[in-house]
Amino acid sequence: MIVTKTREEIELMRESALIVSKTLGVLAKEIKPGVTTLQLDKIAEEHIRDHGAEPGFLGLYDFPNTLCMSPNAQVVHGIPNGTPLVEGDIISIDCGALKNGFYGDHAYTFAVGEIDKETEKLLQVTKESLYVGIREFKLNNRVGDVGYAIQKHCEDHGYGVVRELVGHGLGRKMHEDPEMPNYGKRGRGKKFIEGMVVAIEPMINMGTHRIKQHRDGWTITTQDNKPSAHFEHDVAIVDGKPELLSTFAYIYESLNIESNEEDEFRQKALVI
Ligand code: MG
Ligand code: MG
Repeated sequence: MIVTKTREEIELMRESALIVSKTLGVLAKEIKPGVTTLQLDKIAEEHIRDHGAEPGFLGLYDFPNTLCMSPNAQVVHGIPNGTPLVEGDIISIDCGALKNGFYGDHAYTFAVGEIDKETEKLLQVTKESLYVGIREFKLNNRVGDVGYAIQKHCEDHGYGVVRELVGHGLGRKMHEDPEMPNYGKRGRGKKFIEGMVVAIEPMINMGTHRIKQHRDGWTITTQDNKPSAHFEHDVAIVDGKPELLSTFAYIYESLNIESNEEDEFRQKALVI
């Protein structure tokens, strides 16, 4: 059952989403060769708690940490550890926060120093596909419209779209209805309605879409060990249109990147 949110609830959800956005912005400054994912995890936990929120993933389904940290061929759900990042790595960071009873859930794949052109293209295309998908999240469209758009954009570049892991409704629970696959057929699936909030999150592999699960019960890796990227935003339907609740603006501020990619999905300008 889809649980829609009132305008007031959507504003509370924006608060939770922005705590995650700010956390990713803080991490963006710290990501460099030599830092460990466990160090980044501690920074994130402290930052979230300093903002009066709780880490959204810690303890959820018994996950042991604040961040899912998935380097290189890891797709999602990697567990932070003491291995230092090295120049040329990519690191997908997925972060959740819980405040006022509502979750934020938001992810970005970062480059560690200089990365090769092929991997840079994977990151760029995956992020583009996130916005291509968000554009379809509007009144009277359906789940399949978002999935179709993401899949087409990524497969046109020869990439693999992970099937087993999907986006989701978001609210008082981290995972609500509906499931939001990153593949699908136009006009199929549940219809979008005013007040829905979802996490849209393409998980895109450079090679095969196939994945494997590690023995730790969490970490998901590409079957061919080629890199994978993951970008995620929280989005509501407000006045029939997609309204972004999360933002990459804090990351871009940290990294000195100019971008207007989010402007079309915001009814009011974001003040950061
Ligand atoms: Mg997430
Ligand atoms: Mg999610």
